[in-house]
Amino acid sequence: MKPALLQIQDLEVCYGDAQALFGAAVSVAEGEFVTLLGRNGMGKTTTVRAATGIMRPRGGRVHFAGQDVSRWPSYQIARLGIGLVPEQRQVFPNLTVYENLVATAHNRLGAREPWTLERVYKLFPRLQERAGNLGCNLSGGEQQMLAIGRALMTNPRLLILDEATEGLAPLVRGEIWDCLQTLKSTQLSVLIIDKNIGPLLRLADTHYVLEKGRTVWSGSSPSLLDAKEMMKETLGV
Ligand code: ATP
Repeated sequence: MKPALLQIQDLEVCYGDAQALFGAAVSVAEGEFVTLLGRNGMGKTTTVRAATGIMRPRGGRVHFAGQDVSRWPSYQIARLGIGLVPEQRQVFPNLTVYENLVATAHNRLGAREPWTLERVYKLFPRLQERAGNLGCNLSGGEQQMLAIGRALMTNPRLLILDEATEGLAPLVRGEIWDCLQTLKSTQLSVLIIDKNIGPLLRLADTHYVLEKGRTVWSGSSPSLLDAKEMMKETLGV
């Protein structure tokens, strides 16, 4: 078994007095494609926030790239190689597509085949067509492509996508799934949150299911398909 690139254990996180996570656990190995599943409000985004240093855990541990990053600020964790595509996309509204892509680009970890503008434009030709447009003038799908492209331009070891296709038209959603299939073929490690189980069953190696702030199930796509009762109870599908 490959060693974990990201390992989240017994994670507990609070918003003020309200505890949101009571023992979340997720592991992503090098080159693995992993999902975080669960109904609304079960703690998926909070888990990602704690893994990326946006929130400080009250208990448990987050290890990334061999370091205990549980108490690290988010900019330091990002430097270790986590690229986050957040739920709200957060593209810079007053920068052009081109400027958004290059603003935070780096290859600090010395990736041998780094992501370049050309590579991102090849992945998303629409971004090249819109290179001079401001972030605020893009459609939801274009913003998501830009958010993914911007994260890739930081040459992450792990790409995290929170709600990868939420609110997107079916055609655009298909483009995002195609992009993720391409990224999988490059052996990039991916942790993804999305409600569309179908494409995730095809793409992902391992799934984790959160319920009320706890990881209650994990396993492969075939075993998720077999766990029909659990799927119905915890995911409502
Ligand atoms: P969704 O699919 O709706 O995004 P989720 O599984 O990502 O849900 P979280 O957003 O992590 O769930 O929420 C977990 C719990 O934490 C919920 O009870 C939610 O109400 C609470 N929570 C989330 N964000 C905040 C916040 N900023 N302040 C207070 N409570 C919050």
